[in-house]
Amino acid sequence: MPTPTRITPVRENLCLEITWTDQTAQVPFRVIREQCPCAHCVHEITGERLLDPATLPADLHIVDMQLVGNYALKIFWSDGHDTGLFTWEALAKLSLPHSD
Ligand SMILES: [Zn+2]
Repeated sequence: MPTPTRITPVRENLCLEITWTDQTAQVPFRVIREQCPCAHCVHEITGERLLDPATLPADLHIVDMQLVGNYALKIFWSDGHDTGLFTWEALAKLSLPHSD
């Protein structure tokens, strides 16, 4: 599984910059937030996406981040949401177009 070597929020671009071994990608905050896998955003049984992207603030950004073990990142969003864990696998899918 790929592991990012560096993860930096770039507030002026509203993007999360993710550096992998051989490439760097900037993924818009909203794209990441819309893929939040937590139980508030995705129905645990049906997999239905419960989050309506239209409800996200236009200036949505990352307030804080926390490593979870060595496999995921917990993101604290400016809209108060902080229950989603983004695994390296999930971040790779969003930032490395050829990873799947
Ligand atoms: Zn969520």
